[in-house]
Amino acid sequence: ENFIIAIDGFSSCGKSTVAKAVANKLQFVFIDSGAMYRAVTLYFLRHQVDLTDTAEINAALQHIHIDFTPHTDKVCIFLNGEDVSEEIRMMHVSEKVSEVSAIKEVRHALVKHQQDLGKRRDIVMDGRDIGTTVFPDANLKIFMTASPDVRAQRRLTELLAKGELVSIEEIRQNLAHRDYLDSTREESPLRQAEDAIVLDNSNLTQEQQLQIVLQEYEK
Ligand code: C5P
Repeated sequence: ENFIIAIDGFSSCGKSTVAKAVANKLQFVFIDSGAMYRAVTLYFLRHQVDLTDTAEINAALQHIHIDFTPHTDKVCIFLNGEDVSEEIRMMHVSEKVSEVSAIKEVRHALVKHQQDLGKRRDIVMDGRDIGTTVFPDANLKIFMTASPDVRAQRRLTELLAKGELVSIEEIRQNLAHRDYLDSTREESPLRQAEDAIVLDNSNLTQEQQLQIVLQEYEK
């Protein structure tokens, strides 16, 4: 049986940073499920897929192949063989991703893919519905939270470092918009699993967060 660690929470709570550190430490594979939704969104934007047309969506999904490189330090995501790791983080993708990830057909395809990944190796997967829908029997579930200001500031630092010109206000709005869409959609909305451990990292260093998760893992 593979060991599955599910890390869920709202956008920009620092899930993937912790998930990566935990995966590195335990030699598990880190899977960023949000990156998969972002890659699908990028494909839909490029091919101008009509989000109201189910047949078109299904046809597009048939053409989408997503792969990760098996490194835990810098994880790259490939969309049909192209490294899209940088582009999927840009604002034009962030602005559309919650709309795309609310589509039932998209979720079914990606959840299936995510479950398959968990059949092969011990994994740490971060996302919104990992502990509730993708792996309801995960061995360890963490639900991360952080204050809205801390979240916006983190995302701002990330985007500015990449040279994307964006204001804190724009980021705040994007985060609030995604929180709303992610928690109100019909298909597997963002929820805290009943058996999840809550980790509020507003005032914790990355090392402290890592230690908390490792302690839970040892239990
Ligand atoms: O984690 P990240 O912020 O990169 O995810 C981008 C978007 O993908 C989220 O705002 C959410 O709409 C969607 N998502 C999802 N289910 C997941 C992971 C991400 O709906 N498991």
